[in-house]
Amino acid sequence: MRDLVRSIRAAGLRPDDPRWGAGLRGLFEAAQERPLADDDLQQLTAGSLSLIERAVHRELVIPDFPRLRSEVEELFEAARSIEDGAVATYIPQLARVDPAQWGLGLCTIDGQRFVLGDALERFCVQSTCKPINYCVALETSGEDVVHRHIGHEPSGQGFNELSLNDEGLPHNPMINAGGIMACALVGSGKPASERFDEVVGQWARLTGGVRPGFDNAVYQSERKTADRNFALGYFMREHGAFPAGTDLLETLEFYFQCCSLELDCDAFAVVAATLANGGVCPVTEERVLSPDTVRACLSMMESCGMYDFSGEWAFTVGLPAKSGVSGVILVVVPNTLGFAVWSPRLDEHGNSVRGVAFCKELVARYNFHQFDNLVGCRHGKRDPRREPFAEVEGLCAELLWAAKNGDLHRIRRLEARGVDLASADYDGRTALHLAYAEGRQQIVDYLLARGVPTDVRDRFGRTPAEGA
Ligand code: GLU
Repeated sequence: MRDLVRSIRAAGLRPDDPRWGAGLRGLFEAAQERPLADDDLQQLTAGSLSLIERAVHRELVIPDFPRLRSEVEELFEAARSIEDGAVATYIPQLARVDPAQWGLGLCTIDGQRFVLGDALERFCVQSTCKPINYCVALETSGEDVVHRHIGHEPSGQGFNELSLNDEGLPHNPMINAGGIMACALVGSGKPASERFDEVVGQWARLTGGVRPGFDNAVYQSERKTADRNFALGYFMREHGAFPAGTDLLETLEFYFQCCSLELDCDAFAVVAATLANGGVCPVTEERVLSPDTVRACLSMMESCGMYDFSGEWAFTVGLPAKSGVSGVILVVVPNTLGFAVWSPRLDEHGNSVRGVAFCKELVARYNFHQFDNLVGCRHGKRDPRREPFAEVEGLCAELLWAAKNGDLHRIRRLEARGVDLASADYDGRTALHLAYAEGRQQIVDYLLARGVPTDVRDRFGRTPAEGA
């Protein structure tokens, strides 16, 4: 029983996971102190059986979670030694932050989680409010309306540049002009208090129940130092970019408030994982955003989320991400996991120096870059994800079919995808068995040259050559 609890925890599922009943949380605690009985097991599994089974049988998206955790920890600790860059100084609240802090939170689409370093320290979300506000705007106003007021093209300019696209609109939702515009679109027409509640409520659903805090000092400072944002607001108003009836000052205030929300890496990771999971929060299983909204948001993060480093980021890291001047980077590995790294020292683009270095190392180790999985693309990177059973089965069947039909080209393609040339069907027959049986000499020669075993017996007791 204690072993069961231990393996659930090793899989990265936490006692505070909202998917467990309150009873299970108690049992997790009890398991620390005493051996648990069979009755406990009944209670433990009620309602969460399939999740527990998947965890124990290593069927969650990252089957070997302890290994991922220890490898990520190694990269995290290596990045700690980087002390380049400088904290943002445009407001005193950021200038005063301890620059040595370094935290990471990670959450998979199955809700497997861990945190490292200063992951439980709260900091202001800053620009990472932009993808969230963009999502809320899409959900409340629809894509057509939103993109009547915001473009979806990288600007090729600084994040707060006083510039609009040819139609007089913000270039995209990830720069300041677009962030302000998204604020105008969130619950437009409603009182400011309700719009703020709407955004906070959305963050709380994305985090699986953690309500962001509000740093009033940051808000006051943002407001005081916002000449450029005011200028952007008036510039957009001059171009008639806002929806009819927009109260500009209220919209700007709302934008500063959104930047001043605060959260820690642990909760941020769940936000990223919700995006990775197509809008369903992994730990509550609540659908928070529609898949179309998430698709739009990830596309924008992918092309515009990292300030003037976005193109370079898409090339080297190849993952949707959003960075903020507090030193946070929110990163999404679609269909797998999300994580947040936080370290206040920034590079010349405004991105966390450690955060960027860590992400580069992460994609050097795992095949997470979105184009790492192109056919034939092999650079010895590890894939920590579980191959879906149906996919493995399907590829094996395709291999055998290709061997039977003498389709060498297809066999080569499958091999490039990492399919094991020695795999067998339910009768124990391998590609080599079929190639011999059908007299496909070219395939036989190829498979032998690739070193597939020649002594495996099928269900009828025959080796490949004996079936020729
Ligand atoms: N509060 C900042 C501004 O609007 C956003 C900073 C950021 O990009 O994270 O200027």
